Amino acid sequence: MTDDRQDTKRLSQIKPLDEAVIRAFSSKVRGQLIRPQDDGYDEARTVFYGGFDCHPALIVRVADPNDVSHVITLARDRGLELAIRSGGHSVAGHSTTEGGIVLDLSEMKHLEIDTEGRTAWAETGLTAGEYTAAVGAHGLATGFGDTGSVGIGGVTLGGGVGYLVRKHGLTIDDVLAAEIVTADGELLRVDAESHPDLFWAIRGGGGNFGVVTRYHYRLHEVSTIVGGMLVIPATPEVIASFIAEAEAAPEELSTIANVMVAPPMPFLPAEAHGQLIIMAMLVYAGEVGEGERAIAPFRALAEPIADMVRPMPYPEIYPPEEGDYHPTAVGRTMFVDKIDRDVGEMIVEYLLASDAVMRVAQLRVLGGAMARVPAEATAFAHRSSPIMVNVAAFYEGPEDLARREAWVTDFAAALRQREDGAYVGFLGEEGEGRVREAYPGATWERLAGIKGRYDPTNVFRLNQNIRPSAQSESDAASAIR
Ligand SMILES: Cc1cc2nc3c(=O)[nH]c(=O)nc-3n(C[C@H](O)[C@H](O)[C@H](O)COP(=O)(O)OP(=O)(O)OC[C@H]3O[C@@H](n4cnc5c(N)ncnc54)[C@H](O)[C@@H]3O)c2cc1C
Repeated sequence: MTDDRQDTKRLSQIKPLDEAVIRAFSSKVRGQLIRPQDDGYDEARTVFYGGFDCHPALIVRVADPNDVSHVITLARDRGLELAIRSGGHSVAGHSTTEGGIVLDLSEMKHLEIDTEGRTAWAETGLTAGEYTAAVGAHGLATGFGDTGSVGIGGVTLGGGVGYLVRKHGLTIDDVLAAEIVTADGELLRVDAESHPDLFWAIRGGGGNFGVVTRYHYRLHEVSTIVGGMLVIPATPEVIASFIAEAEAAPEELSTIANVMVAPPMPFLPAEAHGQLIIMAMLVYAGEVGEGERAIAPFRALAEPIADMVRPMPYPEIYPPEEGDYHPTAVGRTMFVDKIDRDVGEMIVEYLLASDAVMRVAQLRVLGGAMARVPAEATAFAHRSSPIMVNVAAFYEGPEDLARREAWVTDFAAALRQREDGAYVGFLGEEGEGRVREAYPGATWERLAGIKGRYDPTNVFRLNQNIRPSAQSESDAASAIR
């Protein structure tokens, strides 16, 4: 637990949420209040990842920005830790709190689609899958990540690296404006003209600056894609060749290669279970015939074990998910320059040396549209990094955690090719040094300056935290130029 979390717990012991406080608060809000004694509390306090068994004093399922403002004010005035939750997929467990307040946006799902203008205003309680299905009905899309149940709130604030990253860039590259409630409870509209500093910061800077209630997204024409899962045997040569093909592929093709030991999944033949595989997710966002041609080299790398790549409506890339799936996992995110045969060999060795029920090296070739946006244009500073790598292992109970963490740490160190860098969306609770790796150089100073302006007392601290700096934002902005 960080010092800030301990400070907040001490404060919460001084000012509990007594009945009078709750009564006064509930008279001001439209949303649902859930307390420990209420039915549904256990379900409401559950987040995606297992291992975060926290007991908030109050969960508020907010109904509108006014509710958001009241929750922020309550938490700030009572000195309570405030957890912000959209889709609940925080890797670090930041969307729940022990003894504090959870501001849960999951009931705010309003969506306004402007098919003519190719934009959409979307409330942040929507998941990536829900948004994609709704705009997909019009043959339109905004790119998010690889998982439909992730909230658009969190994935967008971190940057958003997904199936359209090479074709259309990061999710934040399609954010035209946002509405955000800041630490003083005020609702602001931010865009290139209005509060441009804040607009810059919320495109990559995470949940540090306020509660985003809705985003205005650009929509692209993406109807039928060629995409889905391709499973091939993994060897050092195949891993290196896969990456080389992904780098050489047209920008319409984005790939995610999960190198792993095949789990006993029903769509894999029994003889493949326990074998080293690449479970790849491919999306070609373009003409179908060209897509088939772009995917052919991947099919030719080795005899496919399973090939589910086909023309499909883009929203089908997010299949239905199990609601009660709560894995416990440790991971490490980084950027690397190359994955050649030697790196492939190291990946194979590490995966075979572990007996975790699930262990994976996830390789994402970047570039394309994402890399053409200047690094200083948004708070996502790793634009020129060619490959993102995430290594992860599942653990079974607290007693299993230390050795899985040790494996992840060793594996990540072995893969290190330079200053690692980090994608904030995949950071666990890894300390300020790692948060700084997400925001290298002057990006950090500029973010800290903006934080100082909009959240000087660090109300929004339960996140990959950027402490407020007294330095003015204009000084920091000039440092970045
Ligand atoms: C299975 C899985 C797959 C993933 N795949 C990808 C991927 O392909 N690409 C990718 O880029 N990322 C991916 N991620 C990372 C994901 O984008 C982040 O974990 C993200 O923060 C989750 O968003 P959420 O709204 O679901 O999470 P939450 O837990 O609800 O929120 C996470 C944090 O974001 C902040 N936050 C969320 N909503 C708001 C808001 N409306 N206003 C202010 N702050 C807010 C808060 O600080 C909160 O603690 C994945 C994560 C998981 C668990």
